[in-house]
Amino acid sequence: MHLNNISHMDYLPDMEIIQSDIMEKVLDYMEAYDADSYTAQDVQRALQKEWLTIEDYGALLSPAALPYLEQMAQKAKQETAKHFGTSVCLFTPLYIANYCENHCVYCGFNCHNHIHRAKLTMDEIEQELQAIAATGLQEILLLTGESRTASSVEYIGEAVKLAARYFRNVGIEIYPLNTEEYRYLNQCGADFVSVYQETYNTDKYEQVHLSGHKRVFPYRFYAQERALQGGMRGVAFGALLGLDNFRKDAFAAGLHAYYTQQKYPQADISFSCPRMRPYINNAENNPNDVHETQLLQVMLAYRLFLPFAGITISTRERAGFRDNVVGMCATKISAGVRTSVGGHEEEQKGDEQFEISDSRSVEEVDAMLRQRGLQPVYIDHVRV
Ligand code: SF4
Repeated sequence: MHLNNISHMDYLPDMEIIQSDIMEKVLDYMEAYDADSYTAQDVQRALQKEWLTIEDYGALLSPAALPYLEQMAQKAKQETAKHFGTSVCLFTPLYIANYCENHCVYCGFNCHNHIHRAKLTMDEIEQELQAIAATGLQEILLLTGESRTASSVEYIGEAVKLAARYFRNVGIEIYPLNTEEYRYLNQCGADFVSVYQETYNTDKYEQVHLSGHKRVFPYRFYAQERALQGGMRGVAFGALLGLDNFRKDAFAAGLHAYYTQQKYPQADISFSCPRMRPYINNAENNPNDVHETQLLQVMLAYRLFLPFAGITISTRERAGFRDNVVGMCATKISAGVRTSVGGHEEEQKGDEQFEISDSRSVEEVDAMLRQRGLQPVYIDHVRV
């Protein structure tokens, strides 16, 4: 379905509208956020506090904080130890389909690209699940791409039911749903929901989401709230850092999570930190570029602003970087990753969404964590 002419701020008729003022608050704050207005004194003040205000968080995300990364890292390490001990959770994603009805200009999966599309049958999904379960993992994230037509809620529900037989924690990263649909998937066995806003700059959002349901900004923004209202235990937030001004986007993603946590104190809140890679020939000058230093700054600021929040480090990042951030700020790490449809047990059926930088097995990641004095955790929550 192509929805080129729809307004990016207006809901479509099938999209549920919930009562919430979080989007307004986040967008107002983001609009006013000027990362260049902060000084070294602002950063030092923030680093002395136990609990950060929104202003302090803004300071830690600013360019003025770059010379203080070492101090931020030390404080982040203490906070992580205080709230998570030495635990680091392991999980793996399983792509069960890669059909997509959206046109996001930055993604190779978009509906205009002629990639190899596929969708696993229930038998194929079960074989994949069995192969992954044999590695010892107890948490899985099911992904589909964003096509209601190819990957219906019922199809996802059946996949979740299967996954819940083999895994104690089941997450989903699919297109945004209405509350009752989240409730249905929760009853099927899903525990948590990841939805990334990509950018919180609504003008940029309109420019890069040309068609499809994803074009509707507010419906996506409120996905986490609908998921929690539908009974999900946890929700993940994230901006695609570098798509627009990454400091503003990280600021907004942090506030999105913060206000959601305030409204739903029982919720498990976490962040993912995907980033656009710097463009070749443009690496020096583009203020939106997010190199590892900037990515680290964002992850540390997330940790210090929301000390209880989980932070997941993706296999898009290289092994050395991943190893350094676990225990310091990241609390969850993927292992044994394939980003193709299938490929754990079955032969790969559909193309990969992105190339991974860290192809280590569960065993290898487990060993790395132990070597660093960390405790690999396969399950941190039991569904009763
Ligand atoms: S980013 Fe997601 S929704 Fe957009 S084209 Fe890629 S897979 Fe589809």
